[in-house]
Amino acid sequence: MVEKKEVFARMLLRWWEKNRRDFPWRHTKNPYEVLVAEMLLRKTTAQQVEKIYSAFLSRYPNPKALAEADEDELRKMLRPLGMEHARAKLLKRFGAVVKEEYGGIIPSDYAALLKLPGVGMYAANAVLSLVYSKDVPMVDTNFIRIVERVFGFKSRKARARCDKELWEFAQKLVPKGASREFNLAVLDLAAAVCTARTPQCSKCPLTAVCAYFKNVKDAHS
Ligand code: SF4
Repeated sequence: MVEKKEVFARMLLRWWEKNRRDFPWRHTKNPYEVLVAEMLLRKTTAQQVEKIYSAFLSRYPNPKALAEADEDELRKMLRPLGMEHARAKLLKRFGAVVKEEYGGIIPSDYAALLKLPGVGMYAANAVLSLVYSKDVPMVDTNFIRIVERVFGFKSRKARARCDKELWEFAQKLVPKGASREFNLAVLDLAAAVCTARTPQCSKCPLTAVCAYFKNVKDAHS
């Protein structure tokens, strides 16, 4: 019997073929550029990041350039995203650690990635999935929302993003050899269809497997 998780991945990927979003950071396999994007994307919108991403990479093309950045200038560049003081400090520290402890090269293993300032489980897995095509999930609030709704998975932790059980569950959802497509598809579905406040179930490709949708339908029948 085909498992629900396989149907979920298949339907999601089919939807994504025609509905994928395009951003400049989706065109790179450079781990530094991927991590910069992930760090810039926190607490702001992709549209805001899109406005400064290329200019940022032209000015700071590698960890060494970031480590040696003038903090005032860096802050100025980050201002459109908000929280520019905290962002500038973190990015500079990130650049310095990569420069000093890893010879300017972003490490490619999970444990080492996690030691970099500003790099948590999500960003580390973003590098492994998007750059090195490893079969790992990128679990953020969007991913969690979809998993909770479709599979009825409810984390018992106050911070679901740190829930080991949830990460293990998410790991089992990743289709072999297609983690990049799968992770980006989850992000895009969460942004366009399975939104936080009012999910657009009538436009969703996952209604046949979604527990939330079934509950709503049953309640109205
Ligand atoms: S059917 Fe509705 S709740 Fe379920 S994944 Fe799709 S949009 Fe989200």
